[in-house]
Amino acid sequence: RSAVHRICAGQVILDLSSAVKELVENSLDAGATSVEIALKEYGQEWFQVVDNGCGISPSNFKVLAIKHHTSKLADFPDLQSLTTFGFRGEALSSLCALGDLTVETRTKNESVATHLTFDHSGLLIAEKKTARKVGTTVTVKKLFSNLPVRSKEFSRNIRKEYGRLISLMNAYALIAKGVRIVCTNTTGRNAKSVVLKTQGSGSLKDNIITVFGMNTYKCLEPVTISVSGDCTVEGFLSKPGQGSGRNLGDRQFFFVNGRPVDMPKVSKLVNELYKGANSKQYPVAVMNFTVPTRACDVNVTPDKRKIFFSDESSILHALREGLQQIYSSCNA
Ligand code: ADP
Ligand code: MG
Repeated sequence: RSAVHRICAGQVILDLSSAVKELVENSLDAGATSVEIALKEYGQEWFQVVDNGCGISPSNFKVLAIKHHTSKLADFPDLQSLTTFGFRGEALSSLCALGDLTVETRTKNESVATHLTFDHSGLLIAEKKTARKVGTTVTVKKLFSNLPVRSKEFSRNIRKEYGRLISLMNAYALIAKGVRIVCTNTTGRNAKSVVLKTQGSGSLKDNIITVFGMNTYKCLEPVTISVSGDCTVEGFLSKPGQGSGRNLGDRQFFFVNGRPVDMPKVSKLVNELYKGANSKQYPVAVMNFTVPTRACDVNVTPDKRKIFFSDESSILHALREGLQQIYSSCNA
């Protein structure tokens, strides 16, 4: 049973960034306005997410890391109208199977926090009182150490994994409004280094300025495209000739209803039309698609990075026309 659990867990938690992503999304779901991500040795030794969200109530301690336990789905009539990041109750259970999980948490109804230790099957094995403000800290040590092959891959690719994680944290820093996001890494005996730090501004524009800097922001053009009756795209794109000039995808971030997603087709389209506007560089792109939840399905892959639109081709078509218009008016 535990081997099967580990295999299934390995499909939810594919790598370092999907592991941290689950924790960050739990913090956002908990209404946190401050989320701190701390890594030791690029996450290989341990990683931790500290938030000031609502905390976990003691009645949930025992079931917290049991597979399919979630406190969220009950709040919604069905999967179609889902608005939280989490809904399957698989993240903590999977992280337990793949590493050493501890949780420190306190709700506003408690005067003191509780420190919880779980075993690899998700059982709560130790519980003690501790001091903490309202909120939750989840720590995972030695991720993948019990999956020899993945563990080897993890150490071999650690810099790449770390890079992907930082890019994903940038995505949350761009899209989250009013949430302070800090990401730090510590190696050896060195002092903690701050990799990302935002103040939690209220707008996409201000987030872009914090994450990319003012100079990059000045080279961007706001875009709003009404794709179809109830689907709109809002964001920022490089003005013609003012792309980032870096690698493809380096500064391209796509979101659906505020959820960071991979959109290779949209990225391709943006690059193609941008080149059409006379540039060899890749554009910076930050685009959030607002669509009715019933028109898209995030439940396609366990890590929820892929998304299906029920009407993808007409969305792409309308997007193409909208972008063409923007680029031709910029060039005029
Ligand atoms: P899901 O997010 O799909 O519900 P998870 O396994 O990620 O499943 O989390 C299980 C449950 O643990 C959540 O439903 C939530 O009740 C609780 N939880 C996890 N992390 C936090 C957090 N940072 N703050 C408050 N509650 C949390
Ligand atoms: Mg979750």
